Amino acid sequence: METKLVVGNWKMNMTNAEATANVQAFVKHVDARSDVDVVICPPYMSIGRVRELVKDTHIKVGAQDTFWENSGAYTGQVSAPMLAECDVTYCIVGHSEKRGRFGKLETDPETLCYFKETDHTVNLKLKSLLFHSINPILCVGETADERNANQTESVIEAQLRGALAGLDPAELYFFSVAYEPVWAIGTGNTCESGEANRVCGLIRRFLGEILDEDVASMIRILYGGSVKASNSRELFHQPNIDGGLVGGSSLDSEEFSKIVRSA
Ligand code: PEP
Repeated sequence: METKLVVGNWKMNMTNAEATANVQAFVKHVDARSDVDVVICPPYMSIGRVRELVKDTHIKVGAQDTFWENSGAYTGQVSAPMLAECDVTYCIVGHSEKRGRFGKLETDPETLCYFKETDHTVNLKLKSLLFHSINPILCVGETADERNANQTESVIEAQLRGALAGLDPAELYFFSVAYEPVWAIGTGNTCESGEANRVCGLIRRFLGEILDEDVASMIRILYGGSVKASNSRELFHQPNIDGGLVGGSSLDSEEFSKIVRSA
C-alpha cells in the first residue's frame, strides 16, 4: 500500500480540555501533510471536540470500540450508527485490552472477564461497522506465553479466521489489521522490526487465504506496540508494514507528529 496509515489510540486518557490543547498543537505540526493518513481515536467523550478541531485538516477521527447492535438495552455501549453520526470514519476492534489481556491491573484476575472480547464479538462488531461504512482496524497478536510456546502463527490465524468469518471480501477494501504483540503494548519492549515485518507478511498471507489475494493486497497492515519517534521510521519502512497503531506516544503531540512525519 502506498499511503501509510498512522493511528493514535489515546485509550482512557485526556479530558476535553487536555484533548483540545493536544490536538491544537498536533494540527500545527502535521496540517500540511496529506501524504500520510492520520487518525486520532480519543475516548468517546472527546470525539465531538476532536472532530471540530480537525475539521479543516486531513486528520480523521476514530473510535476505540463499538457495540454490534444499533440501539437497545445495552447500558454503557455505543453503536456504529451513533459513531457514524459523529463523523467517525475508523474504529479499533479487538484490542488486546478489550480481549481482557491487560498487562498489570491491581484487581482480581476474574475482573478481566468483564472485558472479555472474543473472536465472535469482534466478528459481530466488524459486520456492524462495515454496514455503517466505518473502516475497522482489527487488532491481533500473541501474548508472551503464546510466543514462547511457538504459537504466534496459530494464534494470529485463529484470530483472523474468527474475526472475518462470513464477511464478503468485497466489503474489506477499506479494512486494516494491526499486528499488536501483547507483550509489546505499553511495555517499552518494541518488537524488533525484522520480526514485526515477518509477522505482518504472515498476516497478509493468511488474509489472502481467508479472503482473496487482491483484497489482501489492498488491506493495510499496521504494527503496534511501544512505537516511538526513535523506532517508527525503521518499523514503518519495512516492506510488509503499512503504518502504525500508536498508544502511549500518541498522547504527546510533538512525539506523535514526529512519528507521523517518519511515515
Ligand atoms: C495500543 O494501545 O494499541 C498500543 C500499541 O499501545 P503502546 O503504543 O502504548 O504500546
